[in-house]
Amino acid sequence: MTRPAVIIWEALRNAFKRKKATIDYPFEPGVKPAIGLRGAHYLDITLCTGCRACERACPPLAIVMVPSEITKTGKRPVINLGECIFCGLCEDACRYDALVLTDYIELSAFEQDEMIIYSKEEPSLAKKEEATEESPKEEES
Ligand code: SF4
Ligand code: SF4
Repeated sequence: MTRPAVIIWEALRNAFKRKKATIDYPFEPGVKPAIGLRGAHYLDITLCTGCRACERACPPLAIVMVPSEITKTGKRPVINLGECIFCGLCEDACRYDALVLTDYIELSAFEQDEMIIYSKEEPSLAKKEEATEESPKEEES
């Protein structure tokens, strides 16, 4: 067979015989994050002391400290995922295991404000509205 004929034969064979190598994400389930992938943060405010180590470790300054009535120092971190580079240095810096990066990766949002993690219950952005008690916006008011 000539080379073009081989190419056409291979293309036809792949089109009709082989299983799909890709999936129709997000309409088809089945995307599994790779082991060790760094996604959205999970902050357990009950373990956080407000020591600011995570804030100091963050290269793009994606973490800011806001007032808190729960932590020992009266401060707690707020993470802006829109500025985060997912380096994991904040997790490494937290000696109290209060801050961990999860494998939650569906992080697109229409508003920049939706990229901010306010609450410990919130590795997912979808829960932002429920984070009323600890919202920095409410604390400020
Ligand atoms: S999350 Fe960890 S490093 Fe950050 S302020 Fe709380 S205890 Fe300190
Ligand atoms: S993962 Fe890196 S960039 Fe993101 S908040 Fe933590 S230290 Fe900052």
